[in-house]
Amino acid sequence: MVDYNKAFETAVAAVKTEGRYRVFADIERQCGRFPTALYHPDNGEGSREITVWCSNDYLGMGQHPGVVDAMQKAASKVGAGAGGTRNIAGTTHYHVRLERALANLHKKEAALLFTSGYVANEATLATIARILPDCVIISDALNHASMIEGIRGGRSIKRIWRHNNLDHLEEILKEIPADRPKVIAFESVYSMDGDIAPLAEICALAEKYNAFTYLDEVHAVGLYGEHGAGVAERDGVLDRIDIVEGTLGKAFGVMGGYIAASAAIVDAIRSYASGFIFTTALSPVLAAGALASVEILERSNDLRQRHQERAARLKKILTEARFPLIESVSHIVPIKVGDPVQCKKVTDYLLEQHNIYVQPINYPTVPKGTERLRLTPTPLHTDAHMDVLLTALDDAWTALKIKRAA
Ligand SMILES: *Cc1c(COP(=O)(O)O)cnc(C)c1O
Repeated sequence: MVDYNKAFETAVAAVKTEGRYRVFADIERQCGRFPTALYHPDNGEGSREITVWCSNDYLGMGQHPGVVDAMQKAASKVGAGAGGTRNIAGTTHYHVRLERALANLHKKEAALLFTSGYVANEATLATIARILPDCVIISDALNHASMIEGIRGGRSIKRIWRHNNLDHLEEILKEIPADRPKVIAFESVYSMDGDIAPLAEICALAEKYNAFTYLDEVHAVGLYGEHGAGVAERDGVLDRIDIVEGTLGKAFGVMGGYIAASAAIVDAIRSYASGFIFTTALSPVLAAGALASVEILERSNDLRQRHQERAARLKKILTEARFPLIESVSHIVPIKVGDPVQCKKVTDYLLEQHNIYVQPINYPTVPKGTERLRLTPTPLHTDAHMDVLLTALDDAWTALKIKRAA
């Protein structure tokens, strides 16, 4: 007899043996108090205040009064849900306005909303492969799981280019016959290392070999460029990217995903992508909040500038204290631990002893042996927050005997 439950237990036991069993922290965010939140331990102890150092709400927009107000107003006006797929009663005025704003932001003719950035990548990449039969998708080695799944789902030929390695990318482009469709799929900010792709050089290669470009700007939209359109805006290459993909859930602080592209591309994805067609539209409340967030971040650079300044300061003080930082040119501050068990121990220690919340980043999110803490300073993390963090890290590194940088 098959013992079904046993099979699932064995699967979990394997993850536990490797030290990468994931434990979710029960957090209650408190509007207006970010990065402070309430933590509810699962051991029956009462809740307590913690400082969050690992949120992807990079600018605190999830609690911005303009965003929260827009959502409350929308809920009062039209209620909670969209009521259907986009095709069947689910296209509200909020969706239409948000898509227009996103198209404008990225200087494209059109944009298309999805229920998450994950779904946007998965659905769009799979559909590209259907529309361009026998295309070859050339995928950066560190692309996000949602892109990998989308490419797999499209069942086209996939070639992997070594992370951000232009020579290798060109080598692959050269090998593919000129008349064969080629899609280069990559990210701008890679969220675990904090490095940034050389967009202009990649675009130049795409133009030389007549390839199509698909860029995931999930960790850059709202954060880079004069209007928050991402690294492609900062680097002046918006018009050289065929499809930009982004999320409304990270810097924009709400939820949802999207692509922006030419009208023809968006119309085709809209017409063919299963992950767009057969699912209830985003709540209009979410669309209203996202629209407010996009507009606020389009108008002003203040939060973006303070964000970069905060990240630079954190990197500086951690480097001076000889913590083994993984070199990052972005707002992401990774500290290498290099072992999953040790990594989990550090984060448990920080939470238990110092009320500091950082989630351990383990395989398969990053390669084995590169387990790390991933700190995400926001404009709302003060010098005082940083000083407390530094003292706590010092204590953890000493107590757990972890190696410092040379
Ligand atoms: C988080 C993430 C996504 C998915 O976006 P969601 O809106 O969270 O689903 C896509 N790409 C990258 C690189 C990501 O880190």
